[in-house]
Amino acid sequence: MKPLTEPEIRAAFVNCTKGEASRLNVPRDLAEQPWDDLDFLGWRDPQAPGRAYLAAVIDGRTVAVALRSSGAASWQARRSLCSLCVTTHTGGVSLLVAPRAGKAGKQGNSVGAYMCADLACSLYVRGKKEVGTKLHESLTLEEKIERTLANLAAFVAKVTA
Ligand SMILES: [Zn+2]
Repeated sequence: MKPLTEPEIRAAFVNCTKGEASRLNVPRDLAEQPWDDLDFLGWRDPQAPGRAYLAAVIDGRTVAVALRSSGAASWQARRSLCSLCVTTHTGGVSLLVAPRAGKAGKQGNSVGAYMCADLACSLYVRGKKEVGTKLHESLTLEEKIERTLANLAAFVAKVTA
């Protein structure tokens, strides 16, 4: 994906207030992110471990989503599957919940999905980050990347619907 800047990311949040978007922790090392190998940028808030964020370019538009993990119970000891990149982890998948954009979010509506706990889906798909067990799939890397992006776009569409 194309490298994103901090102002671009802050301006792209769809499901938090402008104030929250200006205060939340964006990675300091944006320039060093492996952008060529990323389908989206995902990160955990180092000061608030229950918070995570992702930023992506979908249909030419930069979109960022604020996420919360639903606490200790979301860390599962059994093998579980990331709903974005379809990587199987033992204990490395979190249930992340995004308040929906706009009025629905203010009324407490949210969208949840199981995702790689470190949000490094792009690196798992490319084999740049290893997991214990690999699913044997006949998809090519391009197909896996397309699938990840399609899953991400579907998730974001639910958040912004
Ligand atoms: Zn993943």
